[in-house]
Amino acid sequence: MARRLAAGNWKMHGLGADLAELEAICGAAGQGCEVLLCLPATLVHRGASTAAGRIAIGGQDCHVMPQGAHTGDVSAAMLADAGASHVILGHSERRADHGETDDIVAAKAQAAQLAGLIAIVCVGETLEERDAGRTLEVVGGQLAASIPEGVDLARLVVAYEPVWAIGTGRTPTESQIAEVHAALREGLAMRFGAVPAGQVPLLYGGSVKPGNAAAIFALPDVDGALVGGASLKAADFAAIIAALAAA
Ligand code: PEP
Repeated sequence: MARRLAAGNWKMHGLGADLAELEAICGAAGQGCEVLLCLPATLVHRGASTAAGRIAIGGQDCHVMPQGAHTGDVSAAMLADAGASHVILGHSERRADHGETDDIVAAKAQAAQLAGLIAIVCVGETLEERDAGRTLEVVGGQLAASIPEGVDLARLVVAYEPVWAIGTGRTPTESQIAEVHAALREGLAMRFGAVPAGQVPLLYGGSVKPGNAAAIFALPDVDGALVGGASLKAADFAAIIAALAAA
């Protein structure tokens, strides 16, 4: 069975003063699931110091190179050095805003694992793709191409995030989530074998809130969530953590 993970993504939110919220989230972490907060790069070091091992801290992107002339970028080694254990890769906002292709995401996942990080690879369809009946084709293609050859499955997490559900308050139906997660598990099993594939946590992301978390976590092949807006408020994220721990 895959380990269960409640992962928050603060996106481009968070100043030093907001570490009080992180402190409160640490207080909510306990038995039953792992808790991770992916912070803006400027907060990773201070966040890791504040968390002091009570929850994991991650970044939200990394460069494919360990260092070099890439003004403004952050490498996986830098994130690890700052105290991160995870990094989100291929988030739809990165794919849309920065033209990140599956090949780039795969190269970043390789770089992240080389630096010792756990790579959280995001996949998800647009509304147009869903309406055209192409969800499984799109998501399956992203999964296959965004995971590099030679990947260490013990340091891989996959997040299914329908683009149209992120930050919109809309979520797929439970059967739509279950269908995609089953296809992701099957895609991993075809490539890596059923037992190793079964150990890769599959997260759902897209408008997860305290009110819908328990129903989502009850679905087969859902091992946790990647949470944007609701991870900014400790009370909301704590309720999601509690729902996962109880699932
Ligand atoms: C996300 O940022 O990955 C996300 C799922 O955002 P939200 O929970 O706000 O929809």
